[in-house]
Amino acid sequence: MKPKRYRYTYHSNRRARQRRHFLIVSIGIVSVAAIVSAAIFIGGKLVPISQSEKEPDPTPSTSESGPPPAGTGDQSESSETESGTSSEEESSTSSEIQVSVDPNGPDYQKKYPDLYVTDRPKMHVLENGDKTVYLTFDDGPSDLTEPLLDILKKYDAKVTFFNCCQSDYQDKYSSLMKRCVEEGHTVAVHTYSHVMKDVYASVDAYLDDFYKMYKHIEEVTGQKPANFFRFPGGSMNGYNAQVRDDIIKEMTRRGFIYYDWDGDSGDASGGNVSGATIYANTMDAIRRDCDIILMHNVFGKENTLSQVENILRDAQAEGYTFEALDGTLDPTHGYLMTNKEFISAALDSPLIQLSDWRMEKEGKKTTP
Ligand SMILES: [Zn+2]
Repeated sequence: MKPKRYRYTYHSNRRARQRRHFLIVSIGIVSVAAIVSAAIFIGGKLVPISQSEKEPDPTPSTSESGPPPAGTGDQSESSETESGTSSEEESSTSSEIQVSVDPNGPDYQKKYPDLYVTDRPKMHVLENGDKTVYLTFDDGPSDLTEPLLDILKKYDAKVTFFNCCQSDYQDKYSSLMKRCVEEGHTVAVHTYSHVMKDVYASVDAYLDDFYKMYKHIEEVTGQKPANFFRFPGGSMNGYNAQVRDDIIKEMTRRGFIYYDWDGDSGDASGGNVSGATIYANTMDAIRRDCDIILMHNVFGKENTLSQVENILRDAQAEGYTFEALDGTLDPTHGYLMTNKEFISAALDSPLIQLSDWRMEKEGKKTTP
């Protein structure tokens, strides 16, 4: 046994060299094979966002009301396309974010490949005592939109419209939406039909409704709608319990965020809320440092309209300014009724960069 062993040892230098060489070559081959197959696999999963595919009932709404329960909500991987390789489609998309569609995931991920937000800037939060106020008007446009725009113009105040096309929608409202945008206000999707039982029947139904309104706004204003939206009834309502989490996940995957509100004018909390109450609620919310105020701009909300001028005049005299949301305000800040579904989906999304405040709170390192 010994000599054998010795003989073996005798040749060890040369053999060891050969073995090492063989090992290195083998590892090299295996690594290359692994990288190539991984690339093929990942490539199969990535679906580029292409600007293509189009698609294609209105009835009155149930309005939102008071603030949603606290602690709820109101109330993908990506990769850069490397240059150098390949096909015609890829050649022009060097800096385009690609969003993955899970091949085993729900089919609705494949719908509306042009319904993505890929250019979202990082979000910020407002400091305590910041005197910026975001008035939001839901459910328009309507006959009350034009006079509202005139008042806003007089006070140089900007606001955000969460619009829909309810049954009483008229063609003339389209030009009002255009005017909103031209005068520096933000126009965002609220819903097309605002019929909650239909809109929240399924994720597919929600997407269909959303896309219809999104394209309508784009068509009549000539611009893409805002990269955020507001749920009909707020993010937590009596109709969406079954689909809410999935809708949030899907919309976040597409790069959209949503805003509820932290201040309520109360104009939807009863039959005919008086102007005095709407004024008092709104001024109280503003002075309590609320940032996003819920109001309505639709038939039946004449009392709201009647108070806008008083609110703007008095709040401006106290140093407040009125701005339109632009999608950079972090909706997960405490002042908006945050919810776990949104936060976890947003943290996973390559498209959404929350503020440092939120990232630190979630124990995630902020990216430089
Ligand atoms: Zn509404």
